Amino acid sequence: MGVGREKNDEFSYRSTGVYQSMGRYTGPSCRLCRREGIKLMLKGARCETAKCPMERQWRNFPPGQHSWRRGRGSEYRLRLREKQKVKRYYGVFEKQFRRYYRQAERGRGNTGSLLLRILESRLDNVVHKLGFAASRAVGRQMISHGHIHVNGRRVSVPSYLVKVGDRISVKDSEKTKKLIQAALEEFGDRNLQSWLNLDKTKLEAEIVASPTRDDVMIPVEEQLIIEFCSQ
Ligand code: SF4
Repeated sequence: MGVGREKNDEFSYRSTGVYQSMGRYTGPSCRLCRREGIKLMLKGARCETAKCPMERQWRNFPPGQHSWRRGRGSEYRLRLREKQKVKRYYGVFEKQFRRYYRQAERGRGNTGSLLLRILESRLDNVVHKLGFAASRAVGRQMISHGHIHVNGRRVSVPSYLVKVGDRISVKDSEKTKKLIQAALEEFGDRNLQSWLNLDKTKLEAEIVASPTRDDVMIPVEEQLIIEFCSQ
């Protein structure tokens, strides 16, 4: 991170009270987990160590002054937190989230399950679940740097939604293969789910089914999100 950027972030925090740059959250990731009261696994390997603040009693509370004095909050707050939790877990902006919600509303079936299915189908999520990237954020960077191909063509859009039958592969370069093999060695297939079929030797995968509600790895009450978004 350059010096200019740090100054900018500091300025942004001082003037607005939030860590933000061009609409993107630039503050500490762990702060988001502490706010939502759940491990969102935003930092890859560190999330599974004792260094995770959520594992430490003296850090496992919401950020901000006097946070422990705040009560349970209103119904509105409950719904807002549920929406924010999912948004932060998948790393999407508010506008994108609303777009997915509208898409889910138009679809046939339960809106909450459809919304979660759309979020699960994002290419950055798939790359992370395959073990190619330590976190969704790393997956997003790998995709935008052109390391990931879908059906033999480079896709540089992290929000690309995969479909059944899509084949995910990696760029044909030594550097990319080394990068992904190192990630696979470190993280293995701990997040791999039955809708993804991974061939570790070829570094290729196929989407064999649509993700379901049960494939979401954090507890979500989607009804609260629907109530929030439909207000
Ligand atoms: Fe930080 Fe990861 Fe722990 Fe969240 S789960 S608090 S991102 S270390």
